[in-house]
Amino acid sequence: MDIPRIFNITESAHRIHNPITPEKLAILGAALRLESGTRVLDLGSGSGEMLCTWARDHGVIGTGIDMSQLFTEQAKRRAVELGVAHQVTFIHGDAAGYVSDEKVDVAACVGATWIGGGVAGTIELLAWSLRTGGIILIGEPYWRQLPPTEEVAKGCLAHSISDFLMLPELLASFGHLGYDVVEMVLADQDGWDRYEAAKWLTMRRWLEDNPNDELAKEVRAQLTSEPERYAAYTREYLGWGVFALMPR
Ligand code: SAH
Repeated sequence: MDIPRIFNITESAHRIHNPITPEKLAILGAALRLESGTRVLDLGSGSGEMLCTWARDHGVIGTGIDMSQLFTEQAKRRAVELGVAHQVTFIHGDAAGYVSDEKVDVAACVGATWIGGGVAGTIELLAWSLRTGGIILIGEPYWRQLPPTEEVAKGCLAHSISDFLMLPELLASFGHLGYDVVEMVLADQDGWDRYEAAKWLTMRRWLEDNPNDELAKEVRAQLTSEPERYAAYTREYLGWGVFALMPR
């Protein structure tokens, strides 16, 4: 079981697989007023940076589940590196339908809401693991500017304009689902650059090391076209944030 190999190639050097930066992850941890012993569940935990740094900085205890074997191994190594391997557990697996045995204080899905079939389904899934009074974290894109055409939405690698909402509508949608938005930390274009532009050097180096790989052509094509596509579309039109929710 694994995610498509192309992501394990292009994001192999990422610690954070999203436009949020280490600084903003730290801001989010502080904003949530995490206390020592806070239990955190993270579906789609990637390379584990959120859980590992919050374990180091706030003493949280956590479990992350991720379908990428590579990212899960990187998460385990990061936990050892930060001296928090006794506080965090990383499981390689499909997080769809995952409910924790013990209820958690914070249930998160940061940039992987397809796991629950969309934002609403993911909130519902996370709620199964959440203790009364706990906080749900959802990381999700929104439109910074509404794409004027469906072509522009596709340029942002969305299927259509309807894939995402504008920020006020996204915040309102949490209310319609019965949740208060109690905090948020938003990415900016510099954060998007860290996520997207970091892939380019990784691709370039991978191509030099793997010229005959079956994915070499695809990676070459992406490296050639991505900077321009990203600058014209994603960087201009797409926002991204982590939203902290509590049931009303
Ligand atoms: N939250 C992490 C990773 C976000 S990227 C971070 O912010 O860094 C999305 C992650 O979802 C990837 O790590 C990918 O491997 C993982 N993923 C995709 N489908 C999944 C599934 N069905 N179950 C668990 N993880 C999944």
